[in-house]
Amino acid sequence: MSYSSWFQAHGEKHKKIIEKLTYLSDDELIEYFRFDNMVKNEPDFCPLYAKNKKCHDNKELNCYFCACPNFRFKDDGFEQQEERTLFSTCGINSKDGSQYISDDAIHQNCAGCFVPHSESYVKKYFTRDWFEAMSKVNKN
Ligand code: SF4
Repeated sequence: MSYSSWFQAHGEKHKKIIEKLTYLSDDELIEYFRFDNMVKNEPDFCPLYAKNKKCHDNKELNCYFCACPNFRFKDDGFEQQEERTLFSTCGINSKDGSQYISDDAIHQNCAGCFVPHSESYVKKYFTRDWFEAMSKVNKN
């Protein structure tokens, strides 16, 4: 699956959840997206939910801003770095981010970064429109 197709499909899933929860306040909506609630009530939102597995081993994990407003991707790559193509980066150069480097590709590795998953971050950048929140992510 390309970055673009995942991005579009995930955004549509997010939108459907928001549309059925219009009766919730912003704070209630953010709480709804806590991992423990999402696993029970939105099993199709993330493939990890089926195994009750978190993408980040952190007690507080909010899934509202999965993937991350700071992620940047381009399906055909941003640039060539010697024999490798750079496909994704972090827009804020998070100190907790790193890179997956293979023989021919470089991808942003967010496994060690918790920036978009804390509720304080979600509240700071909150919008009910996921595509608006992620407006800088897709660089195609
Ligand atoms: S490294 Fe952190 S801030 Fe950067 S894109 Fe990944 S999750 Fe977002």
